[in-house]
Amino acid sequence: MTNRIAVAVETPQHTGVGVLDYLADQAWPPGTLLRVPLGRREVPGIVWHRGGDTELADDALRPAGPALEALPPLGEAWRRLVEFAAAYYQRGVGELALAVLPPELRKLDDVQLARRVAKLAKLAPPPAAEPPPRPEPSAEQQAALAALAEGTAPALLHGVTGSGKTEVYLRAAEQALDAGRQVLVLVPEINLTPQLEARFAARFPGRRLVSLHSALTPAQRLKNWLQAHLGTADLVLGTRLAVFASLPRLGLVVVDEEHDPSFKQQEGARYSARDLAVWRAHDAGVPVLLGSATPSLETWQRVQEGRYRRLALDARIGGGAMPRVRVFDMSRLPRQRGVDAPPLAPPVLEALKQRLERGEQSLLLLNRRGYAPVLHCGECGWKSGCPHCSAWRVFHKGDRTLRCHHCGFTERVPRACPDCGNQDIAPIGRGTEKLAEQLAELLPEARVARIDADSTRGAGALEQQLGAVHAGEVDVLVGTQMVAKGHDFRRITLVVAVNPDSALFASDFRAPERLFALLMQAAGRAGRDAEQAARSEMWIQTWNPQHALFDALKRHDYAAFAASQLDERRSAGLPPFSHLALLRAEAKSAEVATAFLDEAATLAEGVETIGLYPAVPPAVSRVADVERVQMLVESTSRPALQRFLAGWLPQLHALRPHHKGLIRWAVDVDPLAI
Ligand code: ADP
Ligand code: ZN
Ligand code: ZN
Repeated sequence: MTNRIAVAVETPQHTGVGVLDYLADQAWPPGTLLRVPLGRREVPGIVWHRGGDTELADDALRPAGPALEALPPLGEAWRRLVEFAAAYYQRGVGELALAVLPPELRKLDDVQLARRVAKLAKLAPPPAAEPPPRPEPSAEQQAALAALAEGTAPALLHGVTGSGKTEVYLRAAEQALDAGRQVLVLVPEINLTPQLEARFAARFPGRRLVSLHSALTPAQRLKNWLQAHLGTADLVLGTRLAVFASLPRLGLVVVDEEHDPSFKQQEGARYSARDLAVWRAHDAGVPVLLGSATPSLETWQRVQEGRYRRLALDARIGGGAMPRVRVFDMSRLPRQRGVDAPPLAPPVLEALKQRLERGEQSLLLLNRRGYAPVLHCGECGWKSGCPHCSAWRVFHKGDRTLRCHHCGFTERVPRACPDCGNQDIAPIGRGTEKLAEQLAELLPEARVARIDADSTRGAGALEQQLGAVHAGEVDVLVGTQMVAKGHDFRRITLVVAVNPDSALFASDFRAPERLFALLMQAAGRAGRDAEQAARSEMWIQTWNPQHALFDALKRHDYAAFAASQLDERRSAGLPPFSHLALLRAEAKSAEVATAFLDEAATLAEGVETIGLYPAVPPAVSRVADVERVQMLVESTSRPALQRFLAGWLPQLHALRPHHKGLIRWAVDVDPLAI
């Protein structure tokens, strides 16, 4: 036992980086999976490097357990990625490394694993089939592909829905595959994987394609991961966790809808898969394609600075135009006391009726599920608050429940006001359930369907409901942002944003950026055929018709919108002109959480390269009886922020025992919502 190895293990954060020294009976190469003793347990670990990290004498070290010899070691590039991500997002190397491997790997012993590896290695490649006919690239697509081949600086593929971005991904992938390389394609949502998977599979019949996302069974996920790791899979398509796939022959990275917030992990190591994809491609010296109609302002600013290239697809394939955007000023509607406002303004309703007459489809976007956001008693003022959260419980009429969308607390709707007994408690406001109900009343002849997180709970429910839309069995589709994304509807010629205003005044500085992206994306659902495009419309119902956001939307002018937002961000010192980290603390009382953050702030006193904001509660401060408080750290220099955090966090770990009642704390680097 004379070989010293440093092994990455999952340790509680306060023990440091998570790489510990052991003695091994063999000089296992770095990247080997093995089991090691930790405290009284035996845990999985990864040989991080040979030689050990500490000055400890050999007899102070414990012997490592058996290795998984059947698994080829994880490569150097993979370890570099994990090491970078762990350092950047302020987590332990071992914690992150083990969290991003398929969980099933820890359960198998060497014999079981050897059997699986042998089986996969024996899989014959699916027979080399003739590639199907593929469209000749348009001039714009050709230019984008030529530019992509010229260098490896990250490339923004900027084009609206239907402009042929996916076709560019396919062509770029073809080149990488022909060169014997693997291709990684990231998409924001599991729901979007099947249709993209189908397109890639159809285009590359002779190649092995695997998907990686959280809806796979553990066995499937292991199998797919192994194929990527063994190099037998050529194409890996997945959601954010796929950015950590082990890919020994990586040749191209694609991030579709790169602006989508789903690329940011919201627990544990809060990594941005988009940002890591860019880092990974750069590290591997391979091109990365970031596709979007509405790039994130971070990406857009890098284009302005010349650090990223912009490859533009300005026209829709087939010559279709984006729908004409029309804004209806809701203050023009007469208000009647005590009477529910109609869901659609007269000209919008008229537009909807026209679609019905012509047998075309309409999409009504309302980003609020449930029947009504709150129930209210007119007698005593009672409202359906959640007893565990600082939020209202939403009224769901379908199953007659009051449901908290933050903690899940659900009760039957009371027959009478719980405070005064008044029988007449009424819903206030409107969610998708109510909108669908009102439309069915307004237009009895129309087939109205609703798609949101509630309607699609069961396995296969979303596919089935989308299938009905595609099959033309639906005239009016009511949905949340879920239906705005990606789906290739062919017969929609009207999109209505029923009530988009709340995002205009949200406290989160990214809310307008997100609203613009959502509305552009929704607009892209309409008029994908040139012939339809001519009569396609998007209606916006708003109390703020003068807002610059709608103005830019009318002109489909992303660049103008981005420029005005970037001006605001620059003068406010917000990203991408500054770099943020958010320190969050959770406790049974806000005082305890705040005291922890205040002491953390004291530790940071005198550091000139960063600024600290006062500790404040987030928009929803109490969830499931836990109080949350957060503190923003800001710096104009990313490296300075990184240096500060790396020194600060170990001090915070040491601080923790002095704050009784503190449940947890965590740091979120580059937070999306603040
Ligand atoms: P996006 O990904 O930007 O939404 P797609 O790549 O899906 O756009 O292209 C939209 C439609 O146009 C698809 O049906 C696609 O097959 C077709 N298409 C794309 N490029 C071409 C081309 N060069 N010639 C003909 N059809 C094309
Ligand atoms: Zn009451
Ligand atoms: Zn709740």
